[in-house]
Amino acid sequence: MNPLKLAIRAFIAAALALAATVVLVTPAAALTRWNRTTVTIENRLDSSWPVETAVGPWHRASGLNIVVVDKCPVMNTSCVVLDYGRLPQGTLGKVEKAYDALHRFKSARITISDRILPEFDYLRRRCLISHEVGHVLGFAHDPANTRSVMYPHIVPGCQSLPSYSHIESLRGLYGYES
Ligand SMILES: [Zn+2]
Repeated sequence: MNPLKLAIRAFIAAALALAATVVLVTPAAALTRWNRTTVTIENRLDSSWPVETAVGPWHRASGLNIVVVDKCPVMNTSCVVLDYGRLPQGTLGKVEKAYDALHRFKSARITISDRILPEFDYLRRRCLISHEVGHVLGFAHDPANTRSVMYPHIVPGCQSLPSYSHIESLRGLYGYES
């Protein structure tokens, strides 16, 4: 291996070590919150996607109201547009978020790959929507836990429900309305 390649390897190793350190010192409770207590999801997907079913457990368990609608009353005001789009091969979904001046979420967009085939079954569709909603609520990936809805891959028999710790974090931010 030439010296340049060795130097690049060393640089990458150092960067990875740094990234790992940053993850370890970030407190688990540092979740960004939405600027309202109601978030509307403008669902532009077809009926093969169980959006309401995926959103329900996130909505019911926390003080945050998550409502699925055909059209957001006001775009950019706690509106999440859920639509198809072209994503890189192998990527199923993607979330982009916008923030207000206080660094709270004010709007978001969930893009579902337009290359997902009909064979992608009901459970996996539900897991994928639930996973992307988890990102919309501020949760990061849970790469070490295959039984977490935030595990970064959608596998057969995947988890479609938020965990107790996800719900506890949301209740900490938004309170709990029974
Ligand atoms: Zn993800």
